[in-house]
Amino acid sequence: MKDLLKQYFGYDEFRPLQQDVIEAVMDGRDSLVLMPTGGGKSLCYQLPALVLPGLTLVVSPLIALMKDQVDALRENGAPAGFVNSAQSYEERVAVQKAAYYGEVKLLYVAPERVALPEFQRFVAAADVSLIAVDEAHCISQWGHEFRPDYRALSRMREIAPQTPIIALTATATRQVRDDIAEQLNLSEPQVFVAGFDRPNLRYSVLPNTDRYDRLLEWLNANPNASAIVYRSSRDGVDEMVADLESDGISALPYHAGLESDVRAANQERFVRDEARVIVATVAFGMGIDKPDVRLVMHYETPDSVERYYQESGRAGRDGLDSECILFYGQRERDRLEYLLNRNDDGTRRAVAQRQLDAIVAYCQQPTCRRAALLQYFGETVGWQDCGNCDVCSAETFDATIISQKILSAVIRTGERYGSTYIAQVLKGVDNAQTQERGHQSLSVFGIVDDYTHAALRELMTALVAKGLLQQGGEYPTLSVTPQGRAFLRDRETVHLPVPESRARSRASRRAAASAAPLDYDETLFEKLRGVRTRLARERAVPPYVIFGDRSLQEMSAYHPTTPDAFLRINGVGQKKLQDFGEQFLKVIQNYSSNAQERERLQ
Ligand code: ADP
Ligand code: MG
Ligand code: ZN
Repeated sequence: MKDLLKQYFGYDEFRPLQQDVIEAVMDGRDSLVLMPTGGGKSLCYQLPALVLPGLTLVVSPLIALMKDQVDALRENGAPAGFVNSAQSYEERVAVQKAAYYGEVKLLYVAPERVALPEFQRFVAAADVSLIAVDEAHCISQWGHEFRPDYRALSRMREIAPQTPIIALTATATRQVRDDIAEQLNLSEPQVFVAGFDRPNLRYSVLPNTDRYDRLLEWLNANPNASAIVYRSSRDGVDEMVADLESDGISALPYHAGLESDVRAANQERFVRDEARVIVATVAFGMGIDKPDVRLVMHYETPDSVERYYQESGRAGRDGLDSECILFYGQRERDRLEYLLNRNDDGTRRAVAQRQLDAIVAYCQQPTCRRAALLQYFGETVGWQDCGNCDVCSAETFDATIISQKILSAVIRTGERYGSTYIAQVLKGVDNAQTQERGHQSLSVFGIVDDYTHAALRELMTALVAKGLLQQGGEYPTLSVTPQGRAFLRDRETVHLPVPESRARSRASRRAAASAAPLDYDETLFEKLRGVRTRLARERAVPPYVIFGDRSLQEMSAYHPTTPDAFLRINGVGQKKLQDFGEQFLKVIQNYSSNAQERERLQ
């Protein structure tokens, strides 16, 4: 299997669990595979498909994706095909015939096809060795991507009783997992659960001020990288696309108000690197297969941790360092609560409320974001500090004095106001409210000038998290906890994270630096990227189908100049060596000899 892994896919090692899954599949057992996005689920059925005697049927939800997946397999020399409703009858017959005679080993179909008697006859007659159901959570009503079409798959077992089924999903909830096994009638499936950690993703929660500046900063610091920005409304999407375009950044919209062919075209242009940013509502991304998305930004706070994990997980599928930024502020909570209360089904409202509380807790608690996500899905973590989230890499400072001022202001104003107002008092804002309430005569009025309003609000959030302040009641008013009173009375010290609004310039520098774990030659990388783009256009496939970023980075780091050396690059298999080796090697050779020439002349 390892030889085939290199020969076809160009990889030297299996990812965790891939080998175990493949063994179970080869043994003819049913299996259920739960692996995070980017974990390498496809390989678990693609590799067996090349070895098994008969056909492997792959059920996959999106017609648009199918072609790219099949193109990618063909570029690796694997005999794959697909049938779907976008093809003519003749085309479908031709592909099914090739599959019947074993010329196609992997056949991709959409779930609705499985419901057709014509197709069921084909399955019964053909020699099918394996059925793979990808994105299997779509069969469950408990999942947030339920697709009624998937229900047809419940009949798979009857149509092909002897054929093992492998179901795959990145969904982490227990209920959905159990439902998948039941709906597909899996018989004593072997269940594989990979850890849901995505170590290459850097998670941050930022206060939702200066959001657009932060986005531009990131885009400028990472000049070729692709980004997805999630917005909560269509208007927000359209405005942002216009803003980005006027700032010289190619961006495309994606939301339910666009015609479906426009949406499909925009998605495709994004996957093909013809636009750097896609600005989308939640309608976007289901099954999107772009491996080199380097930033997923949630401009508004999403309504659940599940959704956040799934959407942010679209970053960095190729395993290279990528960022997930979520913006949060008190108003976001109010907005989500408002939406939730419009729901008149009491049970659903209660579920939504729990989900809302969980995402708000995620945003507010200054504990490791990664640990918080994993614990939400029931995983236990063994570390204290992941080193790759905003909390774990935040610098703290001695916040004793400023915390004393904040707590005093909360007490002096009678513990009845929220953070915005307390910040106004501390900053000495002269307005109708402070006048009316007589707060201008307080000793705490105007005693802070070394922190901005935003920084003060962040510090108050941190003090809530530390347990010195508490927030609540009918309105988000602040009051001092017994612990907070003890802190004042006993003159204790406290350390808090440096407010983001101060740490900003540092943060963006870090982001830019972490994008390059391999020390490669960026000039050569750009040249190779050019070759990749040209080849992709010629063949009408997405660039990643030719080579992923990792492969190009390795080429630019190791400068292979012979076919053997080229074959050692991650992602180069026999077929790609044959098809593309010469063209890439020529560029690398030219580049290296020019570099030597330059050195000699210096
Ligand atoms: P999933 O479906 O679980 O989200 P994919 O099957 O799309 O993940 O794989 C994600 C990426 O990882 C792809 O670019 C794939 O080629 C790559 N990949 C899969 N297995 C390996 C491996 N053993 N070594 C290196 N890269 C791999
Ligand atoms: Mg997948
Ligand atoms: Zn962390």
